[in-house]
Amino acid sequence: MTNRRPFVAANWKMNGNLASIRPLLADILAGVQTGMNAEVVICPPYIYIDEIALRLDNTTIGLGAQNVSHHDSGAHTGEVAIGMLQDYNTGYVIIGHSERRMLYGETDGIVAEKFKKVVDSGLKPILCVGETLEQREADETEEVIARQLDTVIDNAGVKSFAKAVIAYEPVWAIGTGRTATPDQAQEVHAFIRLRLARHDEEIADLLRIVYGGSVKADNANELFTMADIDGGLIGGASLIAEDFLSICQAAI
Ligand code: PEP
Repeated sequence: MTNRRPFVAANWKMNGNLASIRPLLADILAGVQTGMNAEVVICPPYIYIDEIALRLDNTTIGLGAQNVSHHDSGAHTGEVAIGMLQDYNTGYVIIGHSERRMLYGETDGIVAEKFKKVVDSGLKPILCVGETLEQREADETEEVIARQLDTVIDNAGVKSFAKAVIAYEPVWAIGTGRTATPDQAQEVHAFIRLRLARHDEEIADLLRIVYGGSVKADNANELFTMADIDGGLIGGASLIAEDFLSICQAAI
C-alpha cells in the first residue's frame, strides 16, 4: 500500500465571528507549528477568507473554501467564482457537501461540474460523498456512493482525481454525534478506492480518502488507523482548538 500523507480539514461551516475565529485560528496555528504529520487545511466562512488567508501566509496550514459556483462570472447573486478564490491562495474547495446537496439542491451533475471547474483552475477539490440513514437501512450505500462518484468520473475523468481528496461523510453521522464505526467507515472507503481503481489503479492507490461525521478527539485514533482512512473532514470539533489539534495529532 502506498504511504499517503494524512489529511485533516476543518469545516467551520457558518459558525463564528471575527472575535471568535481570531483566537481559534491563533490556537490552532500555535499547535500545528509544533509539528504534525498531517496536511492541515482550514475552510472558513467565505467572508473571512481574506482575513484567514493573511494569517495563514507563511504557515504550514492550508486554506480551503466551503463551496464554489459552477459558473465563471455574471448574474449569480450571492455566489463566489473560482477566479475569486484564486486571488486568495485558496488551495482546496469542498465540493458536494451533503448540506449543499440537501439544503441547496445540488445534484450529482452540478457537483460534477463544480469538481471539474476546481480541477481545471488548478485548485484541489475535497469531494464529499455519503448516504442518508434511509439509504443505508435500505442497503443502498454502495449504489449511492457509486452514482455520486461515477457522475464525477464521467464528467471530469479519472485523472482529475490525482490531486483531489474524497471525504466519505455518511449523512446520518454529520453533526449528530453518531459516528460510523471504524469497520463501517473502512468498508465504504475500500469500496470508494476500488471504484476508482477500476479506471486507474495508480490514482486510486494515491488518493486520500478521509472520513467525516462526528469525528472527535476520542474517536479519531481508531478511525484513522484503518487501512483506507487517510484523515478526516471535521465539522463541530474543529471549532475547539484543543479538540481539533488532538484530531490532527491522531492522523499519523
Ligand atoms: C462536516 O460537516 O463535514 C462534518 C463532518 O461535521 P461534524 O464533524 O460536525 O459531524
